[in-house]
Amino acid sequence: MKTLNEIRSTFLNYFEKQGHTVVPSSPLVPRNDPTLMFANSGMVQFKNCFTGVEKRDYVRATTAQKCVRAGGKHNDLDNVGYTARHHTFFEMLGNFSFGDYFKSEAIPFAWELVTKHFDISPQRLYTTVYHTDDEAFELWKKIGVPESRIIRIATSDNFWQMGPTGPCGPCTEIFFDHGEKFWGGPPGSPEEDGDRFIEIWNVVFMQNEQFEDGSMRALDMQSIDTGMGIERVAALLQGTNDNYATDLMRSLIEASANVTSSDPDGPGKTHHRVIADHLRSTSFLIADGVMPSNDGRGYVLRRILRRAARHAHLLGVQDPLMHRLVPELVRQMGEAYPELREAQPLIEETLKLEETRFRQTLDRGLKLLDEELTGLPEGAELPGASAFKLYDTYGFPLDLTQDALREQGRTVDTDGFDAAMAEQKAKARAAWSGSGEAADSRVWFDIADKHGATDFLGYDTETAEGQI
Ligand code: ATP
Ligand code: MG
Ligand code: MG
Ligand code: MG
Repeated sequence: MKTLNEIRSTFLNYFEKQGHTVVPSSPLVPRNDPTLMFANSGMVQFKNCFTGVEKRDYVRATTAQKCVRAGGKHNDLDNVGYTARHHTFFEMLGNFSFGDYFKSEAIPFAWELVTKHFDISPQRLYTTVYHTDDEAFELWKKIGVPESRIIRIATSDNFWQMGPTGPCGPCTEIFFDHGEKFWGGPPGSPEEDGDRFIEIWNVVFMQNEQFEDGSMRALDMQSIDTGMGIERVAALLQGTNDNYATDLMRSLIEASANVTSSDPDGPGKTHHRVIADHLRSTSFLIADGVMPSNDGRGYVLRRILRRAARHAHLLGVQDPLMHRLVPELVRQMGEAYPELREAQPLIEETLKLEETRFRQTLDRGLKLLDEELTGLPEGAELPGASAFKLYDTYGFPLDLTQDALREQGRTVDTDGFDAAMAEQKAKARAAWSGSGEAADSRVWFDIADKHGATDFLGYDTETAEGQI
């Protein structure tokens, strides 16, 4: 059985032998890039190499990159706990060419690594190409993939973009079929989001740059950017379709079960999965200098942590939980990511403080939520005003309320929530002009938002979506 740490070395060693420089992961907070909240893929640190603005002393690179997808264009927060393949924090393995090799080498590299070094049977693999990309189609055919397993996709799934601006291009993806016992269909089918066919690797042909006004230019050089989710490969190499059953995630789930004296696979199963996932994203974010706050990156951290705290509460534990799991995380990942070990005391303290504070209002908030729900017809939306009250009085981020309701098949009236928020802001603004002082810190955020003083990312994922 290959462990996650062994998979990382196999990948990096393979590409090092092919002339790639092994480059360390960049921090989760991108340097000098207000267009992006967190590193969401391996290419982020190389963005300027693709556009030609920056030159390095290598033209081939390979990395294991820390990624967080909890806001913006790539947001998987709502998938955690519900799919077998999504995390908010994960590691992306990648190989990069800056104007060096292109499609005809990138495709054979990927195939050789997957079928020879990871020893994955070609009979279990499917590939996709952008619908107009005949060249990629032919390359897969030449390598021996049957035509019936090379699927042309016309959607944005096969045209990769980091965010609304930046380098981008058509891509080709490799999927693994976990077999009939799982529900799901091949890429491009209506059931593709099931847990049977899982995307493991995305190979992007970087050839365009997207601008804010919607226009796109062809880049001067043709480059390669790839991303393989290490947890997904670990899952299939360890004989499971479930990322959360892999060695590393399992150890965190078991730590959560031990500390709460509960069964990792019992009725609290989903809570343990969410906790294990959120432990990684919150700890790595803190290690990279993000602190909980009411705006921007710090608010995303706070939201993730509050979600985790609610799941911990549902397991019936009275005391804060998250900080007690940090030692296991450091045991698992401290060697590959020494910053985690260095920041351990800060991580533990921050998690403990945040969870302790939130628990003071969590109970009352959940009671209020119950009260608001009694009397509502089954399946009816929670009124926006109620969700706003939970946000305003009890510190419930909107997505936490949505997460809580999803278990009951309910949603929130988000228009109503936005309206209540707007009304609150208007009131605060009026109070401010009267006194000459900020009556509410939200006024400041509102102004910062409008004038772009910070990369304010909104109170909910919708706002964040438009801004990153
Ligand atoms: P999916 O369609 O499954 O959501 P994606 O197309 O959004 O994945 P990419 O942006 O192509 O993913 O990222 C490259 C690779 O990173 C994916 O092929 C996958 O192996 C991995 N990956 C992407 N998102 C996640 C996630 N949330 N958790 C774990 N691995 C991920
Ligand atoms: Mg995705
Ligand atoms: Mg995809
Ligand atoms: Mg993809």
